[in-house]
Amino acid sequence: MNAPPLRVRALNKSYAGVAVVEDLSFVLEKGRCFGLLGPNGAGKTTTLKLCLGLSVPDAGEITLAGHRIPEAAQAARAFVGVVPQFDNLDPDFTVRENLRVFGRYFGLSKKEMAARMEALLQFSSLSSKRDTRIDALSGGMKRRLMLARALVNDPDILFLDEPTTGLDPQARHLIWERLKTLQGAGKTLLLTTHFMEEAERLCDWIMVVDGGRKIAEGSPRELIARHIEAQVVEVYDASGTPDALEVFIHTARAQEGMEDMRMEKSGETLFFYTREANALLALLAQWPTLRYTHRAANLEDVFIRLTGRELRD
Ligand code: ADP
Repeated sequence: MNAPPLRVRALNKSYAGVAVVEDLSFVLEKGRCFGLLGPNGAGKTTTLKLCLGLSVPDAGEITLAGHRIPEAAQAARAFVGVVPQFDNLDPDFTVRENLRVFGRYFGLSKKEMAARMEALLQFSSLSSKRDTRIDALSGGMKRRLMLARALVNDPDILFLDEPTTGLDPQARHLIWERLKTLQGAGKTLLLTTHFMEEAERLCDWIMVVDGGRKIAEGSPRELIARHIEAQVVEVYDASGTPDALEVFIHTARAQEGMEDMRMEKSGETLFFYTREANALLALLAQWPTLRYTHRAANLEDVFIRLTGRELRD
């Protein structure tokens, strides 16, 4: 199959006259991890649903695993695994029973399923939980089972909607490791996430959407180089002195060498974005009551720059 795993052209979807997905075009390359990022309500889940044929677009073209969507969604689904945002495992069943149900859905024989079962249990580190009911699993185990379940049909393409939301760091790292393994095995991943560290680690290519529209696209490195200054200094006041940050801002602005520094205040933290932080660091050395962190710019800085700091819920 030479066609890319997923190709989307000029996709549009409105609900009650409000555009939720607007003129979106993108391509998933084989064996890559594509990250779909955006604040709440940006249209990410709707886009995934449209690509899977679970919702019908108002306009646009979607080809998934070489099949037109939504017309041939059923044929395409044989090549696709889906890890939905919310746990929809059957609570009355055990780990193995949940996997078997999916095997039957994809038409696997008992023999084929038995052969895959061990590999899936091992991959998801759930071998010792094979006969455990779902309600006795931890959040991380459930998520790993959802991933194993999405792999029952040995898909070429995996859709992952916020695969690590609600997990602790250990459980999250384990999922990251498994996703890397899958990518290494040639699977193509489409991922939505609110964790910029996750996107930066896993994704080869990122598309940022807001209000249903594409606002940026590129590799994590390209996005950082294109949209943000290289260095960030975060400053906060640890002493509780009234107006300490205001006085510091005033002083910093009057300093030489800091003219081209971009500054944002968010709550009680000042963010300085700059190509060269030396003048600022020298000034901070004279302000022992202020704490600061000096770091390289990351994808979260880009995301905030592109989509703003206001809450979207
Ligand atoms: P995201 O996944 O980026 O948070 P969604 O795709 O879930 O965004 O939602 C985008 C917008 O579409 C939101 O404003 C949401 O309320 C709206 N929306 C999603 N599904 C429906 C629906 N079935 N009917 C009406 N509005 C919807």
